[in-house]
Amino acid sequence: MSPSSPAPAPVPRVDLHTHSSCSDGTLEPAQLVARAALRQVALLALTDHDSVGGCEQALTACQRHGIRFVPGVELSCQWREREIHLVGLNVEPANPALRAHCAALLQRRRQRIAAMAQRLTAAGMPGAALAADALAAALPTRTHLARALCAQGFAPTPAKAFERWLQRGRPGYVRAQWPALAQALALIIGAGGVAVLAHPHRYRLSNSAQRELAGEFKTAGGAGIEVSLPGMGPGDTDRVAALARRYELMGSIGSDFHEPDLPWRPLGRFAKLPDRITPIMASLGL
Ligand code: AMP
Ligand code: MN
Ligand code: MN
Ligand code: MN
Repeated sequence: MSPSSPAPAPVPRVDLHTHSSCSDGTLEPAQLVARAALRQVALLALTDHDSVGGCEQALTACQRHGIRFVPGVELSCQWREREIHLVGLNVEPANPALRAHCAALLQRRRQRIAAMAQRLTAAGMPGAALAADALAAALPTRTHLARALCAQGFAPTPAKAFERWLQRGRPGYVRAQWPALAQALALIIGAGGVAVLAHPHRYRLSNSAQRELAGEFKTAGGAGIEVSLPGMGPGDTDRVAALARRYELMGSIGSDFHEPDLPWRPLGRFAKLPDRITPIMASLGL
């Protein structure tokens, strides 16, 4: 580059997948936004699990920091006996059907955590004390049980608590009842949002099952797929990018940030979309 040529315009940092304390993140929405501002994020979505409760606070904070805010949600759902997550972007937080769904899911999640605590008690653990910690959360999840297990000295890290107690097949596990994929998709679209297939590399599906999932998702009205997320190796990105091209899904970028203490999921991490992928940001009118 000659000294007189203009410097390339910086690519704005985008993070379209984050969690706050309204689900299983540790930062309040305003704290999350402040951290995003420090990390020069220009476009931020808050996508709490089954909750839009933090969107108002996040919007106000984003306006203060000059960040463009995208109200979002991450809905758990079921596809062929598997748990799949859909990120909804640009949803209307006041949408009555979405609100009702989130309220129903909150009850269901509370019941599940109580049932898991009973199973932990049966396995010789202090289930009641663990449940008390987890149920104090705005939206209790297994992450909260994992943190309680650590705080009470039963696991060195939340990941170990999952491995030992909380994941499928372990003593504290209770299966969740999630809505069908088509139903979750319809909720996002009905709330004016665009639906994104979250972290497709984490579902442990064969290549053919991944294609079937992406194809069904597209047919049912899905718009995008996460092609760039921390923890995706080059092989994962190539596979997901191929799915995006094949099913004409736009590419989304996010960190899946939950807490500052997990450095491998940094908020607002810059990532480039692979070639020939349409960025979902364009469809958000941003
Ligand atoms: P739930 O929706 O209550 O089943 O909780 C699921 C949440 O637990 C996910 O959103 C992740 O944040 C977290 N999670 C799931 N599996 C693990 C794991 N193996 N290690 C650490 N966190 C996990
Ligand atoms: Mn989570
Ligand atoms: Mn997820
Ligand atoms: Mn997430």
